[in-house]
Amino acid sequence: MRKKIIAGNWKMNKTTSETVTLINQLKPLVATEDADVVFCVPAISLTTAVEAAKGSNIQIGAENMHFEENGAYTGEIAPGMLDDIGVRYVIIGHSERREYFAETDVTVNKKVLKAFEHGITPIICCGESLTQREQGVTIDFIRQQIKIAFLNVTPEQAKTAVIAYEPIWAIGTGKVATSAQAQEVCKAIRECVAEIYDTDTAAAIRIQYGGSVTADSAAELFSQPDIDGGLVGGASLKPDFGKIVNYK
Ligand code: PGA
Repeated sequence: MRKKIIAGNWKMNKTTSETVTLINQLKPLVATEDADVVFCVPAISLTTAVEAAKGSNIQIGAENMHFEENGAYTGEIAPGMLDDIGVRYVIIGHSERREYFAETDVTVNKKVLKAFEHGITPIICCGESLTQREQGVTIDFIRQQIKIAFLNVTPEQAKTAVIAYEPIWAIGTGKVATSAQAQEVCKAIRECVAEIYDTDTAAAIRIQYGGSVTADSAAELFSQPDIDGGLVGGASLKPDFGKIVNYK
């Protein structure tokens, strides 16, 4: 039985002082043992967020990191730096990183390998554009993203990974995928993991849906057999996130 994992992706929102306020406000609303709860916050607020979340069930995640250990990469953050301050999750390959910061399946793979090396759980994002969906290549495209993301990842590591299926057309648009559409792709992702590894690994890996999840859509989405929670953008910045976490 896979434990649900519900993560907020704050994106480029909230100052450090606002972060403390929001974490304190959400703490009682997201308290549950039924799901893992992760807040992925801007890098500048990570240390403060780890401190603010202490004593609660909230784990703190980063929204990105570099795949090198250190060196001449102005403006970047190394995996060891996240590890050092107690960050336990990192979003890798979000579609916004791919679109605006030229991340590719190959850089995603490098980052995934580095995250595991540091004992940080990667939340690996994949998802098709509207054109790809309309052209009927969604599953092929996502299988390619998954196969490259998991290159050289061991089965033991893969079992602990989180995959976030986020159709690009659903992100920040208010156009949520139907539960049938989301389940179809999440099932295909699990089958792809079974092909790469085995059925045990596929049964263990957690797959989230992301894209305009709200308190109204969470219950139906998260009760699909292959959907193990969500990666939530806009709605993770509001008290509604408590309702999403306690969707049942
Ligand atoms: P959204 O974002 O919930 O605001 O659509 C989801 C995401 O990009 O992770």
